[in-house]
Amino acid sequence: MSSSSAAVTTTKNRKGGRVLEYGPDVAYLLFNIWYLLAGVLALYLSPLHWAVMNSNSPASSSAATSRMRSILIRNFATCYIGYAPWHWYLYGANGGAPPKAAKRKFNTNMPDPSQHERDRFWTFVGFAISAYLECILVEATLNRRGEKNYDATSFSAAFVAVATFSVPWFREVHFYFTHRALHLRTLYKYIHSLHHKSINTAVWSGLAMHPLEHLVYFTCLVPYAIMLYLSNGAWYAAIPFYYAKLHSELSPIMGHHGFEGLGGSEFHHGHHELFNCNYGSPAVPLDYWLKTDAASMKAKKSK
Ligand SMILES: [Zn+2]
Ligand SMILES: [Zn+2]
Repeated sequence: MSSSSAAVTTTKNRKGGRVLEYGPDVAYLLFNIWYLLAGVLALYLSPLHWAVMNSNSPASSSAATSRMRSILIRNFATCYIGYAPWHWYLYGANGGAPPKAAKRKFNTNMPDPSQHERDRFWTFVGFAISAYLECILVEATLNRRGEKNYDATSFSAAFVAVATFSVPWFREVHFYFTHRALHLRTLYKYIHSLHHKSINTAVWSGLAMHPLEHLVYFTCLVPYAIMLYLSNGAWYAAIPFYYAKLHSELSPIMGHHGFEGLGGSEFHHGHHELFNCNYGSPAVPLDYWLKTDAASMKAKKSK
């Protein structure tokens, strides 16, 4: 555990002992806007989307297989295009960050290359699982569309707008409570400890989880999946769903890349170093309200 204490000291030194601070984060808001635009653009500019959601052959198993293949390939491409450039920029082919960025690393040590490899593997597993979950939703939606007794539910523009803008906030709340549950002794030991193998986190660490944790993590998509299902796959109901999906797949990069700026989260970095605090993010300060932030937990221990 010595590497952990050294890392904590580093963090404390950087912020004069105030390991983790709260406050609105402009980078967080900008990145949310980027996920939304990227998600919607990728969705509507993609011929694959139209091929999948406007397919008229739900009953054919060969069509279902080809849809599944397309979704899996698209997900792996999203994973590579989303993560690899960040890794290349911040950790470089030879293990170093650009000098300007290097000064802003939370933990001044660079992780071992084997950590990147392990985390990359589990991140790809996560993208395979999210692809599989999307396949289930797409097939269920297309089957429902094919049944005459079901009418599509239509949602008002205001409802779609509220659902879309709820995505990052709902995800923060969902993440806090599911993450806290994963720190219960048995769940931590058998499931969440895999994510915590990386103390000095890097780009690929965010979605590096046990597959059972991936399943829990992606339940944040359920409300948006239900909406897409009830609308029989309507184009407008796809917006909040694919936004939430892209957000859940790519936002862990910011939480784990390990650098100040570029949306980097010192708050979650503190969670990896200290383990039993900072379960959520400062954007929705549940840790502060429920007294699980680093300072409150330290105060509780010293009583
Ligand atoms: Zn944790
Ligand atoms: Zn983490």
